[in-house]
Amino acid sequence: MGMLVKYHLYAPGPVEIPPEVLNEMSKPIFHHRTSQFSEVLVNAWEGLKYIFQTKEHVYILASSGTGAMNAAVENTLSEGDKVIVLSFGKFGERWEKIAKAYNLNVVTIRKDYGYCVEPEEVEEVLRSNPDAKAVLLQHSETSTGVSSDLKEISKVVSKTEAMLIVDGITSVGCDEVKMDKWGIDVLIAGSQKSFMIPPGLSFISLSYKAKKYMEKSNLPKFYFNLKEEEKALSDKTTAWTPGITLIMALNKSIELMKKEGLENVIKRHRVVSEAIREGVKALGLKLFCKYRLFSNAVTAVEVPQGIDGNQIPKIMRNKYGTEIAGGQGSMKGQIFRLGHLGYVDKGDVVVMLQSLEFTLRDLGYKFEPGLSLSIANKVLMEKYEF
Ligand SMILES: *Cc1c(COP(=O)(O)O)cnc(C)c1O
Repeated sequence: MGMLVKYHLYAPGPVEIPPEVLNEMSKPIFHHRTSQFSEVLVNAWEGLKYIFQTKEHVYILASSGTGAMNAAVENTLSEGDKVIVLSFGKFGERWEKIAKAYNLNVVTIRKDYGYCVEPEEVEEVLRSNPDAKAVLLQHSETSTGVSSDLKEISKVVSKTEAMLIVDGITSVGCDEVKMDKWGIDVLIAGSQKSFMIPPGLSFISLSYKAKKYMEKSNLPKFYFNLKEEEKALSDKTTAWTPGITLIMALNKSIELMKKEGLENVIKRHRVVSEAIREGVKALGLKLFCKYRLFSNAVTAVEVPQGIDGNQIPKIMRNKYGTEIAGGQGSMKGQIFRLGHLGYVDKGDVVVMLQSLEFTLRDLGYKFEPGLSLSIANKVLMEKYEF
């Protein structure tokens, strides 16, 4: 029997849900082929354009994020097409698997976990593969905490005939992603990340260039056929039954994001993630990301020698009520990941680091108690804007 321990969800998705958004989901459901729902839907489409920073339509699909990755491939590519996958983590490997499932000709530039592909390397691979139809990558690689240099990579790819297909699932809404300005051709996001709603919706937007590819695309498709969504669009509806309640929640979330302002939302994620990185380093721990850019959504930390890495998320959850993530695949037990996206503010930094300190103490790791909190607090005092 112990004292009260509050639960906090600090995974890199799903994330905590603001009370206003939870309230929205407790409202009675109504039918989707109605003008009442059309209004909700049009509102959501408009809101998503703001977050995606695009004039293009943003389709809402009833699926987790992977559904939109699937949709991106099957709607824009054709049999035997050559695609270049920039693979630097588990989600990059997912792009490879999806492309291979459609028998595409996949050229992979692979980097060790913790590193990333440089824009110059993308330029080179496009030069030696002028027939490539697309470059696929993650903006934020959630499995390693690495961010790619999307802005520079966009410059390189937009000079060619190839499409730039971006998994922005842990960057749209928490990092700068300018779809139109940068020339991104396909941009994807998911509901349970920066959008602060439960899993179940994915979002995808296509540039003019991608839509031209879509016209020619002959890969098999049915549920995620965006041409069906395009047809439904003029009737202000969706092809299939939409996630009615989740879309109502989405509107409330976007309303909150608009109220704060996208620029502030992004700044907040930048400051919070910096505070967490500095706090973690103050404990003598090493960040797993060796690249020059860090994810704004998640921080991956190396498990120190002599500590059982699998115990860290377990103790943090079971004893201290803070849910974080372990490593995926071969990184299991080697790293742990602190999620800090969506509904997070200055206080969450402290809660997360405090639990981490308690846990490390339990595991016999030597450090100066409270140091991560004071170092993180210093960053917050200097940079958090009120
Ligand atoms: C969460 C996530 C996905 C999607 O995963 P789902 O489980 O299908 O929602 C894809 N890419 C990245 C980078 C992610 O973080």
